[in-house]
Amino acid sequence: MRQKSILRSFTLSGIGLHSGGKTTIIVSPAPANAGVVFIQKGVKIPALISEVKQTGRGTTLKGIAVVEHLLAAIFGLGIDNLQIEIRGSELPAMDGSAAPYVKALRAAKIVEQDVEKTILILSQPIKIIDGGSSLEARPCRGFIINFMVDFPGVGEQRLSFNPQNQHFDKEIAPARTFGYFEEHEALKKQGLGLGARYENALVLGKDGCINTPRFPDEIVRHKILDLLGDLALLGRPLQAEIEAVKSGHKLNAELVRRLSKA
Ligand SMILES: [Zn+2]
Repeated sequence: MRQKSILRSFTLSGIGLHSGGKTTIIVSPAPANAGVVFIQKGVKIPALISEVKQTGRGTTLKGIAVVEHLLAAIFGLGIDNLQIEIRGSELPAMDGSAAPYVKALRAAKIVEQDVEKTILILSQPIKIIDGGSSLEARPCRGFIINFMVDFPGVGEQRLSFNPQNQHFDKEIAPARTFGYFEEHEALKKQGLGLGARYENALVLGKDGCINTPRFPDEIVRHKILDLLGDLALLGRPLQAEIEAVKSGHKLNAELVRRLSKA
């Protein structure tokens, strides 16, 4: 399989989910083997696990927060090389999902390059456990994610995603980020969630969803989206089966660290 980039540059602007401030990205083609590289104030920041600074509410690379939804779109579409100039401290939240990024990347025309992809083929299982959460990668012929979540008010949701027979654009990319209405005030006091709106998040209460979900199991779909975005930090495609139980950015990043050394 050949490496991929895009044909044309494009610009997207919006507010940051946490900062609430305006932010703009200019996404441009990059040559084979360049990888995905952010540029902020002239400084190059490769989208690699070695650059991860924080995994609290989203994944933060040096000075750039909430990179996971754009990276999920890039990884889900099998794009290997891009340059992303960012004017701001965080990616634009758009509608809280990866769908607007997918639409823009497809419109910029995804093109094959002359160099083959370097796929990481897992040979030994890796399992990480943290309390009631766990994340395991096992050798497999393709790429599959099995995810289970269990959130108060919404209960258990399970989904398997295999890009061979499920369409990333339709099944995963439109799933939005989510948060509890009751937690929002506390988050705002910490300077987080300042850009969160009913238009860019699935809002949860004690008795379930407050606004209308896009899928009955939108939460587990978004968790798969987040995991894909974090797996993009490997810098290459992965051949493995992943079993995720209530995993989040912290465990995802730890798995990517271990996979990078595998
Ligand atoms: Zn997310």
